[in-house]
Amino acid sequence: MSKFFVPGPTWVRPEILQEMTRPMIGHRGAEFRELYARIAADLKPLFGTARDAFVMTATGTALMEAALVNCASRRVLVTTCGAFSERWSQIAESLGLEVDKLAVEWGQAIDPEDVADHLVSRKAHYDAVTITHNETSTGVTNDVAALARVVRAESPDTLVLVDAVSSLAGIPLRFDEWNLDVCFASVQKCVALPPGIALFAVSEQALARAQKMPYRGTYFDFLSYKKHADDGGVPSTPSIPHFFALAAQLGHIVRGEGLEARWRRHEAMRETTIARTAKFAKLASERVHASATVTALAPVRPPEELRAAMRQRGFTLGGGYGKWKETTFRVGHMGDITMEALNAMLDALEEVAAA
Ligand code: PLP
Repeated sequence: MSKFFVPGPTWVRPEILQEMTRPMIGHRGAEFRELYARIAADLKPLFGTARDAFVMTATGTALMEAALVNCASRRVLVTTCGAFSERWSQIAESLGLEVDKLAVEWGQAIDPEDVADHLVSRKAHYDAVTITHNETSTGVTNDVAALARVVRAESPDTLVLVDAVSSLAGIPLRFDEWNLDVCFASVQKCVALPPGIALFAVSEQALARAQKMPYRGTYFDFLSYKKHADDGGVPSTPSIPHFFALAAQLGHIVRGEGLEARWRRHEAMRETTIARTAKFAKLASERVHASATVTALAPVRPPEELRAAMRQRGFTLGGGYGKWKETTFRVGHMGDITMEALNAMLDALEEVAAA
């Protein structure tokens, strides 16, 4: 049973770790093609898309950069509500893009009406808007469906780029229905694999935009991923052990537990975490936007004391992040963590908090 409650990397089931020890296969042979075909089929329901979704041997940060490199050449609007949504602006600036920010206080969610007002009042045209589905630093989930809808309505050729790093496979996400352009996640969060690969989906409009980018680099080129996927593979030598583990884990998520049940389990873990910590810690995010995958808490006792005491009992909790480092700690309740494991951890946390 897991004693590891960090909001990524998350606990990995032993049988999935075992998948990574299989003997190597070549990535241009029939065996890899067969493996890739299984993965590609299961990525569709994971993203809620009828389109191809892809795998890159890289982390989530790389996909943030890749999304911008393929989709933006002039100006972007970055919506920010915490440390990871702010990372978009650093990356965009490092690529020489003009960046406008629409920020809310940490702990709050982005208001779709503010985005609509911003797009209407600013005459500037944006190549893309960035949205962070689940802000891992604050434990806030943004309403991506509503945010994408206002971007579509106010600025139809602005692409919608979505970081689903700590939501994919833990919180409902519907790429096609919500009309998203790029959506990605690294696998060390709700997908519950060791870190090292990232999953992503790309719309037709985003592929068309990439086509017009003369200097979109090589490794991050979405068109190259599409071309190789059409041929049953990836552009360069991937982390093959991850592909074995991914195939097995996607089978579990899609046909074993089932996505709907997985989402419900995550919601139940949020409710339990908030209810059982209320006596000794304040929820740091707005209750209505509280994440189903990570809870940031401001405890009465100093957070580092609590975490150290929990460590002595064998439990690892997440630290506060960025400017909330000193005042909060985070409970990662994502991936394959069970209610039983969560409750066992919360039993210990209650005792430690009362000491
Ligand atoms: N975006 C979010 C919301 C995250 O939580 C993280 C990592 O925690 C990242 C991006 C960066 O992902 P990675 O560490 O896989 O590069």
